[in-house]
Amino acid sequence: MSSNYETSQMISVDEAIDMVLSFTKELESEATPMLEATGRVLAEDIVSDIDIAPFDNSAMDGFALKAVDSELASPDHPIELEVVGVIGAGSVFTGCLQAGEALRIMTGAELPAGADTVVMIEHVEVVGETATRPQGERIILSKSIELGKNVRYKGEEIAAGEVLMQAGVQLSPAGIGLLAATGNPVVQVIRRPRVAILATGDELVDPTQVPGPGKIRNSNGYSLAAAVAGAGGLPSVLGIVADDEAQIRAAVKAAVASHDMVLISGGAAGGDYDYTFQVLNELGRVYFRKVNMRPGKSQTLGVIDDTIVFGLAGNPVAALVGFEVLLRPALRLMQGYRSLKRPIIQARLVSDSHKTDSRRLYLRAHLAYDSANAEYQVILEEHQSSAILGAMQNANCLVILEEGQGGSHKDEFVNCLRLDIEDDLRVIS
Ligand code: AMP
Ligand code: MG
Repeated sequence: MSSNYETSQMISVDEAIDMVLSFTKELESEATPMLEATGRVLAEDIVSDIDIAPFDNSAMDGFALKAVDSELASPDHPIELEVVGVIGAGSVFTGCLQAGEALRIMTGAELPAGADTVVMIEHVEVVGETATRPQGERIILSKSIELGKNVRYKGEEIAAGEVLMQAGVQLSPAGIGLLAATGNPVVQVIRRPRVAILATGDELVDPTQVPGPGKIRNSNGYSLAAAVAGAGGLPSVLGIVADDEAQIRAAVKAAVASHDMVLISGGAAGGDYDYTFQVLNELGRVYFRKVNMRPGKSQTLGVIDDTIVFGLAGNPVAALVGFEVLLRPALRLMQGYRSLKRPIIQARLVSDSHKTDSRRLYLRAHLAYDSANAEYQVILEEHQSSAILGAMQNANCLVILEEGQGGSHKDEFVNCLRLDIEDDLRVIS
């Protein structure tokens, strides 16, 4: 079977990303224990069952008192208060503080009735301390204390019944703490996409094997699985499939039935033993086969039963860059993230790039902040072959040179796609 006219056309990277996204939708939510919800997107509004703080309490170790008692204190006219008790966090003082009295109080302990202010322990002189504290203990104030000082108030952050985080919010570790504090140990978050990875190729052996003549180890299966996990997906490495149309067809069919996305590595070009297109065209529909990018021109978007089955270029760097550019945004959309893309920032090229191409180039590079000049500088990796995985391992960004753009010169500013930052929400460009 030969390719039809449309799918044999080279399409732009931006068109390819949009087309992949057009077959992608947000997944359902699932009830999730809070510790498994970190980094994920809330699918419900979160309401607190109590006030936070639950009661007025001390923000410092010190002494609770009535501010009015300290009003006339000065170095010349120090004021003395009697210490009538001591409480730590978790216990309560049952009495009511009277004029002229203070209560030794620890951070987080409930402010006693009658008190309205806390003075830090460092700001008073303690006298009359005995082994049977607080008996006989007094504090001396030599300046007045502002009313309400060092008090954290009941309901100051959240009132009982109030929505504290809305559906759509991405949970950070602080958010997990808020879930714990507000009685929400299990929450609805968008589920993670299940992504199958099929490595095709007669040359492939498992990483545990020593390759025989003509063979190589399957590295794509694992680099792609790691990239899927890094994008929040749940990868399943389905192992190696030979360059055999019937076997690939069977493996794809089985994978589609139990996954939200299927990645096929190898066999994406039009070589003698490349079957990705035939299989996808037969089981579903193919939307494109070539994208105007380097590395990774041969990228096949197929859709089978509403599931994206994507044929990635086989070369190790091309597979990863193809995933990063074309599929990662779709995996993020599935998980409900507001930002689908990583940030692109401008950096000064440290050396000339002789690369010129009619395609959009994604060059492996390393970005560093130059504080003396208050700018980012970017160094291109020496090896830009799509087979050299080590260059991708060293890279923390991809320098993007637009379609048809000539080589770039030392000291020019170029766009860098940051591989070290999840999304572009936190970067002001
Ligand atoms: P293909 O897309 O099948 O033409 O493969 C292009 C190149 O990528 C060839 O050099 C393959 O040996 C290599 N390749 C394909 N699949 C893998 C894999 N799973 N791991 C490492 N290299 C691969
Ligand atoms: Mg092959």
